[in-house]
Amino acid sequence: MNSTPSPLTALSEEERMFRDAVAEFAETEVRPRVRAMEEARRIDPVLIPQCFALGLMGIEVPEELGGAGGTLFMVTLAVEEISRVDASAAILVDVQNTLVNHPLLRYGSAAQREQFLPRLTSDTVGAYALSEAGSGSDAFGLATRAERAGGGGWRLTGRKLWITNGGEAGIFIIFANSDPAAGYRGITAFIVERDFSGFSVGKKEDKLGIRASSTTELLLDDCLVPDENVLGPVGQGYKIAIETLNEGRIGIGAQMIGVARGALDAAVAYVKERRQFGKPIAEFQAIQFQLAQAATELEAARLMVYNAARLKDAGQPFTSEAAMAKLLSSQVCERVTSVCVELFGGYGYTTDYPVEKFYRDAKIGAIYEGTSNMQLQTIAKLLLR
Ligand SMILES: Cc1cc2nc3c(=O)[nH]c(=O)nc-3n(C[C@H](O)[C@H](O)[C@H](O)COP(=O)(O)OP(=O)(O)OC[C@H]3O[C@@H](n4cnc5c(N)ncnc54)[C@H](O)[C@@H]3O)c2cc1C
Repeated sequence: MNSTPSPLTALSEEERMFRDAVAEFAETEVRPRVRAMEEARRIDPVLIPQCFALGLMGIEVPEELGGAGGTLFMVTLAVEEISRVDASAAILVDVQNTLVNHPLLRYGSAAQREQFLPRLTSDTVGAYALSEAGSGSDAFGLATRAERAGGGGWRLTGRKLWITNGGEAGIFIIFANSDPAAGYRGITAFIVERDFSGFSVGKKEDKLGIRASSTTELLLDDCLVPDENVLGPVGQGYKIAIETLNEGRIGIGAQMIGVARGALDAAVAYVKERRQFGKPIAEFQAIQFQLAQAATELEAARLMVYNAARLKDAGQPFTSEAAMAKLLSSQVCERVTSVCVELFGGYGYTTDYPVEKFYRDAKIGAIYEGTSNMQLQTIAKLLLR
C-alpha cells in the first residue's frame, strides 16, 4: 500500500488532460484576441460560447445539471491557465464557478439548482453583487433593501457597484438587507434575472487593468423578486456571502499566479533574444538572479494556492489558507510583473510588448474579493482565536 501523500503539484490524469485542454484554448482562441479585447474594453463575444462548450463555466457542477462534475482544484487550474494569457477572460470564468455556481450548489434548493445551473453551465453568464459605493471592506454595511411585496415576493431597492460580468450576465446573486434592525443578520441573498422589472445595469467602469472584464453598476428600483428566488434562509445572506468569498479567494490566487507566469514566460524568452554588450542579457548574472527570485516566489505562491484548493476539495478547513494564498499571490504577482517590465527595458513600458498589461492586471489581486488588509484581518483573527 502506498500511503505517501502526493506532491502538491502532482496532477491526476484527468487534471492534466483538463489543464492541457484549457491551455490550448487560451493559446489558440484567447491569445489572438487579447489586444483587441483590451482596446475594445470587452470580452470578445465569440469566446463566451466557447467557454461554455469546453465545460469551463460549470466545472464543479454535477454532470446531471449540465456541469463537468469536477473540483475546485480544476477551477484553479483553468483560471491559472487562462490568466497566463488574459486575466480578463479568466475572471469571467472564475466568477461563474466560484461566486455564482458554488453558492447555488451549496445553498440552492433542489428546484433552484435545477432551474439555474443547467443555464449557467450552457449559455448564461452569472454575477455576484455584494459591494456598493458605501460598503466595500465593510460589506455588511450594505444599503440595498429588500421589503415584502404586497402580492408576495420581495421588492429590492438600491445600487450595487463594481460588479464583475455585469455587462454579460443574465443571472445575478444579489445581497440586500431584509431586516436592517437586525444588522448583518438581516442580509439575504436573492437570485435576480436581467429581465426582472425594476432591474437594470448601469455605468461600466474604465479601469487600470483587467480592462476587457466588465465591471458595472447594478440599479434596483423596486425590483420584484419572487419568493422562490430567495437563496438560502432569509437573514443568512451574510453567511453565504462570506463562505462564497472564501472559495472565491482561491480563484483570485490562481488568477495572480497565472498573470505572474505569463509575465515570467515572456521575460524568459525576451532575455535570451535581447543583446546588450555583445551578448544576450540572459548571460548577465544580475538578470539570472532576478528571474530566479521571481520564479521562486511564484512557486511558493502556487503551492499555497494549490494547497488551499486541495484542502477545500478534501472537505477540510481552508479559510486561513485561502486568505494567505490570495494575499501572497497578489503580492508576488505585483513584484514579478514589475521585474518583468524592467527586464524588457524601455520596450516593457510600451503596449507593443505584453508585460505592461500583466503589470496593470496584477494590481486588482490586492483589491477585489477582500483587500490585502482584509485578508490580513482574517488570518490574524484565526491565528489569535
Ligand atoms: C475590478 C473590480 C471588480 C470587482 N468585482 C466585484 C464583484 O463582482 N462583486 C462585488 O460584490 N464586488 C466587486 N468588487 C468590489 C471589491 O470587492 C471592493 O472594491 C473591495 O472589497 C474594496 O472595497 P472598497 O473599494 O469599498 O474599498 P474600501 O473598503 O473603502 O477600502 C479602502 C482602503 O481602506 C482599507 N480598509 C478598509 N477598512 C479597513 C480596516 N477595517 N482595516 C484596515 N484597512 C481597512 C482597505 O484595505 C483599502 O486599502 C470589485 C472591485 C473591482 C475594482
